[in-house]
Amino acid sequence: MWGSLQVKFGLSYICIIAAVLLLLNTYPLLESQNMVFHSKVATMQSSVSVMVYSLSGLDRLNEENVAAAMAVVEETGLSRILVTDEAGKVLYDTRETGSAVGDYVFFSEIVQALLGYDASSCIYRNGAFRSRASSPVLYRNQIIGAVYAYEYDTGQAELLLGLQENLLKLSAVIGGVVLVLSLFLSKALTKKIGRLLTAIRQVREGAYSHRADIGGHDEIAQIAQEFNSLTDRLQTTENARRRFVSDASHELKTPLAAIRLLSDSILQTDGIDPATTREFVADIGREAERLSRITEDLLRLTRLDSGVLDPPTEVEVLPVVEQVMRMMSLVAQEKGVDLTYDAAEGCVVQATRDEIHQVVYNLVDNAVKYSAGGAVQVSLGIEDGQVALRVADNGPGIPEEDLSRIFERFYRVDKARSRAAGGTGLGLSIVSDTMRRRGGTVEAVNRPQGGAVFTARWPQAKGGETA
Ligand code: ADP
Repeated sequence: MWGSLQVKFGLSYICIIAAVLLLLNTYPLLESQNMVFHSKVATMQSSVSVMVYSLSGLDRLNEENVAAAMAVVEETGLSRILVTDEAGKVLYDTRETGSAVGDYVFFSEIVQALLGYDASSCIYRNGAFRSRASSPVLYRNQIIGAVYAYEYDTGQAELLLGLQENLLKLSAVIGGVVLVLSLFLSKALTKKIGRLLTAIRQVREGAYSHRADIGGHDEIAQIAQEFNSLTDRLQTTENARRRFVSDASHELKTPLAAIRLLSDSILQTDGIDPATTREFVADIGREAERLSRITEDLLRLTRLDSGVLDPPTEVEVLPVVEQVMRMMSLVAQEKGVDLTYDAAEGCVVQATRDEIHQVVYNLVDNAVKYSAGGAVQVSLGIEDGQVALRVADNGPGIPEEDLSRIFERFYRVDKARSRAAGGTGLGLSIVSDTMRRRGGTVEAVNRPQGGAVFTARWPQAKGGETA
């Protein structure tokens, strides 16, 4: 429970507000107290100065002349005024009960004054300000006595206590409001995080269609949006993976079922003649060959998916095109296809020879396969700083709605025709993945006069530019 975000947020709010309230309850009070101290000391000092001034004409102090001089001093509102002679003997005391006249008093302020210094102090104790001030009385630079004043003030202290009380009430209100707000806010925040967490757990358990539904524009809402788009991609990848596995199993199942059917027929048919047996075995061989083609293509795609590729080198494309042309010329001849090429030298790309062979072979093989009795032209050159390989045929072309999908795994426009022609439905996806891995592209368009054109483009290698 202590580790939960809600508790952490709540405690942080409470700590911050407690610090603020503590400051609110101490700083203004201390400042006000200081101000009162300063003003008290100043007024006490000036009152004492006035009294010293009224005694200033006297050459010696005694009870009579001090009483006469003090009688003309205006009402000061002070609690007690003492006047002593130079020995500290009290000559004048405003306190009526317990008057100290005739006694020697040695308050520290009086001692200071008799030594020739002005003294003053103010303290706050038991709900009252107690202020003291004293000054020497001089006659021709001789200390002839001291004036001491004392004030006991509860009025200002009450004001201060009132302020303290108000601050406490205000703090209690602020504390209460902040506590409720912090509970509310931290709950709202952790509720959002909780919803996000639930969505993450659901997706982790395999519910890829689940999305985090969090409104607003804050950081948590942004994380939720990022999580949702990540889940979108995950779902797309997962769907593609499932479709791929199911398509692959289906593709493998068909030749396997044929092999089983053929071998069962041989085994279960009594007195089967050798010619039929040979025919069946030849069929089994063809299906096995198809199986191995599919598995080879699947392995190639898996390798491309894993991203572990052979290190690329600078490869001249022309010899590879020439090799594929030699390989395909016989097949083209058999199918009555006029296969021609026009390839330039100096087309160098960063790849492996095997990859380039795959691309050229698959594109030329498709063109020959799907345009029986027609013509296939292959061209190789440099266009806009890229090496472009173009394979054009005058076959049936590709329906516009299928153009964007023919590079998908196992996608075929005409399944029966592709199978009959020995296709696996993986050739173009191998071409597209191979090109993408080397920073290239491949695209297919239909020619206005009929037939399809496939164009593969690689970035030109540095060595090729100077060649
Ligand atoms: P396949 O092994 O079936 O040829 P590909 O991935 O090489 O698989 O091609 C996918 C599909 O694209 C083919 O089944 C075919 O329908 C279509 N296609 C490819 N090349 C051509 C072409 N030159 N002319 C017409 N259709 C083509």
